[in-house]
Amino acid sequence: MAQQVCPFCQGKKVVQLSPASPPQLCPVCNGMGVLEDPGLFFVYEITLQLAANVKQFPFQQNILNRPFRWLFAMATSTGPFSALIQDGSTQRNFSNQEVHVNNLFGNSQNPFPLLTPYQFNQKGQISGTMSDLSGAPNNVRMAFAGVELN
Ligand SMILES: [Zn+2]
Repeated sequence: MAQQVCPFCQGKKVVQLSPASPPQLCPVCNGMGVLEDPGLFFVYEITLQLAANVKQFPFQQNILNRPFRWLFAMATSTGPFSALIQDGSTQRNFSNQEVHVNNLFGNSQNPFPLLTPYQFNQKGQISGTMSDLSGAPNNVRMAFAGVELN
């Protein structure tokens, strides 16, 4: 991922703010000497119409030409559902079973921030399975908000 030399400490990791004070950890880069490219905001949304009571319906969304760092989970639907999300390129699951929407997703006004951001590879996939819990046709939109990296 793209990094640039910290413009405040010029990569020295420490700064001396006055001749009388000792050098201190650079407050801009937190002593790393580099700044990470924050990336550009991007949302992957997966739209599905689940039949009533359908179980373990597979879904897949391809990641485009840049690595994607997933930061927020959001969903809207006409009824409750459960989902198991997987990184399709590594087969890594994000839970032990399909998780109830209320235990995994927020919404656009109150998104659920991932406790640690997760990076999908470029040309990878957000994949997994979903089940309807409403007993009726269920229009689901899952949104994965984050940043595209260079
Ligand atoms: Zn610095």
